[in-house]
Amino acid sequence: MSNKRDYYEILGVSKGADAAEIKKAYRKMALKYHPDKNPGDKAAEDKFKEAAEAYEILSDSDKRSRYDRFGHAGVGSGSGGFGGGMNMDDIFSQFGDVFGGAFGGGGFGGSRSGGGSRTARGTNLRVKMKLTLEEIAEGVTKKIKVNKLVNADGVTYKNCSTCGGSGRVTRVAQTFLGAMQTQSTCHVCQGAGKMIDQRPSDADAQGLKRQEEVIEVQIPAGVEEGMQLSVSGKGNAGPFNGIPGDLIVVIEELAHEELRREGENLHYEAFVNFVDAVLGESIEIPTIGGKAKIKIEPGTQSGKMLRLKGKGLPILQRHGHGDLLVHINVWTPRKVSKEEREILEKLRNSDSFKPNPDGNEKGFFQRVKDMFQ
Ligand SMILES: [Zn+2]
Repeated sequence: MSNKRDYYEILGVSKGADAAEIKKAYRKMALKYHPDKNPGDKAAEDKFKEAAEAYEILSDSDKRSRYDRFGHAGVGSGSGGFGGGMNMDDIFSQFGDVFGGAFGGGGFGGSRSGGGSRTARGTNLRVKMKLTLEEIAEGVTKKIKVNKLVNADGVTYKNCSTCGGSGRVTRVAQTFLGAMQTQSTCHVCQGAGKMIDQRPSDADAQGLKRQEEVIEVQIPAGVEEGMQLSVSGKGNAGPFNGIPGDLIVVIEELAHEELRREGENLHYEAFVNFVDAVLGESIEIPTIGGKAKIKIEPGTQSGKMLRLKGKGLPILQRHGHGDLLVHINVWTPRKVSKEEREILEKLRNSDSFKPNPDGNEKGFFQRVKDMFQ
């Protein structure tokens, strides 16, 4: 009894520490001494359990007040906490509270509740995929070649001789609190419960080999730069015939020569002949995978924007398309011939050439303002 350390001291907090401080201190200890991070390290495992026990008492106001008054004796056998010994499963069951679900599934401690071995999972493979705007607009099926780990032919498995196939090793230690059963992941099979029986020369110690494989990936329409698509089960094979990881496809968008993308909308800068802007004309503009004609009305001002409804990109996982926004820029000739100059000089003082904005021609700042409304 006398060799048990003080619970506050174990967690490194003061006697007056509040619940948040205690939780934070325990998180730190649990992460540091977690058996999955310190495989086979008995001292770390003991520290891990010591911290869990301290937290179990100090996080419960009733147990904590008994401990404060009577010391370890106040929370000993019969108090409900440690009567039958606290095993690893009890400790891990605390984690939902302490780590807020971060340990659910996959992470260490996440798959222990069943008590059996856990199937080893292969790692994810990441590949980048460059796509043109045309491919993004339509969606595309692409074949990619990856170099990945696959199960080698002819490998046979048997139960791990260290853990007998359970994936875990159990020890029983006698403590003040009674028999404490401790379990940790088998360090020989990493929890898989299996080991290789017969291994062909091309297989590694986990029964895997590297191989090139062509994988077909379906890209839905409307994806964007930086998006990650996950193809389930197409990553590296799992060790010891486990489950494969995923193939993660990271989208890279190739710039279009003429169209600029903004979400589901496309933008096009159209340069219009000065005379066409004055007299009106039909012009051709590029669209995704084609062309469209648009009408420039007589008297069109530079800076006007035309909206082609539905000519943008499809919206990912929804119905509908964005728009194609055509920005009209009236081209001012940089050089004119002598004859042209003479014509223009005649027009210089014409009444209809005098700027006379009537409110329909909004200035630049007004248009910017409108964009944010
Ligand atoms: Zn084992």
